[in-house]
Amino acid sequence: MNTQQHLSDCVNRLSPSATLAMSQRSAELKAKGVPVINLSVGEPDFPTPAHIKQAAKEAIDQNFTTYSPVAGYADLRESITQKLQRENGLSYTKEEICVSNGAKQCVSGAVMALVSEGDEVIIPAPYWVSYPQMVLLAGGKPVFVEATIDQDFKMTPAQFEEAITPRTRLLILCSPCNPTGSVYTQEEMEGLAAVLRRHPDVYVIADEIYEHINYTRTHASLARCEGMRERTILVNGVSKAYAMTGWRIGYLAAPQWIVKAVSKLQGQQTSGPCSVSQRAAMAAYDGPQECVEEMRQAFQRRRDLIVSLARGVPGFEVNVPQGAFYLFPKCSSYFGTTDGRHVIQNATDFALYLLDEAHVATVGGDAFGSPECFRMSYATSDDNIREALCRIREACGKLKKV
Ligand code: PMP
Ligand code: GLU
Repeated sequence: MNTQQHLSDCVNRLSPSATLAMSQRSAELKAKGVPVINLSVGEPDFPTPAHIKQAAKEAIDQNFTTYSPVAGYADLRESITQKLQRENGLSYTKEEICVSNGAKQCVSGAVMALVSEGDEVIIPAPYWVSYPQMVLLAGGKPVFVEATIDQDFKMTPAQFEEAITPRTRLLILCSPCNPTGSVYTQEEMEGLAAVLRRHPDVYVIADEIYEHINYTRTHASLARCEGMRERTILVNGVSKAYAMTGWRIGYLAAPQWIVKAVSKLQGQQTSGPCSVSQRAAMAAYDGPQECVEEMRQAFQRRRDLIVSLARGVPGFEVNVPQGAFYLFPKCSSYFGTTDGRHVIQNATDFALYLLDEAHVATVGGDAFGSPECFRMSYATSDDNIREALCRIREACGKLKKV
């Protein structure tokens, strides 16, 4: 029986998440005893800070065990508005906040709420793997704008304007960016905002989940540019800043009519997010912030380490990421090579070769819309980074032109 035929069109047009797939593959190999170093999935390797865990334990004892409001507890939404004011200089009311099961659900909810069949959504490439898939799920059409390594993987205002058509509904912008680590400056944001002011029907999802993993120390929010607050769906959450990926709490801040629409969807699909995790997230926003800076410094040290080691691998072209915890080197000089057993034709072949030969899990750039590059997450120990890059260098040394 061809069971594929019995699945919905919507599922059949969806690709699996390449980041999660590679991570699972690496976990399976590890379980079989293969000494894999996993640089595939991007998540902080630190435990959640103790005061946040304590708040969750107390929440259980205080019986925060029932359904929360769909958009999240009012006091958590209030804490988020204070965070936005304190750290970003942005004024929102709690009615303009919706808390969801991770930033991922926030992005997908906003896409679902705004994109209709045939609407175009501009996505600068390289992009996070899930954006185009979310657009396809909503029946929209992803329109990619290629930002190359020479332009530090950042879309220029001219490129953006050129991609806009009467069907354009949305731009999805990620800064600091996954997978490139690029950070848009305030000036660059202003450039994009100027284009948006000329196109009043285009909205923006500003994915700021890596806000605090920023080595420039200045985070630019598009919503702060003139006229942009009413057009922006700002997405953020606790996953990366507070090492809370498993707790599944993210939020979006947007005009109330958008928040209402996203909450309506959430009410039919998942209800409000986990009650205990919401209390933990509140402790994260209201509590001491030193932990965020400590983790940021550790990521910066690892960034410096991985950049210097990757630059020592012949044939790699490496930019210096200003944020997030990914390195996205160009590896296309290895296309058309072989070690006698594997033939490398593209970035996925290259990533699979590294897994097989060097036992290092990475993700090919194809899934991020950049088939000449591959992604390494450096959210792991210095020792793992050293050992992984040593193995990669050795494996690359075995590749010869076909
Ligand atoms: N946006 C980007 C760019 C990400 O890298 C991630 C992490 N996978 C998310 C959103 C989703 O974050 P969360 O774990 O909070 O759903
Ligand atoms: N942000 C992570 C990554 O890109 C998580 C995996 C995912 O949600 O796709 O690796």
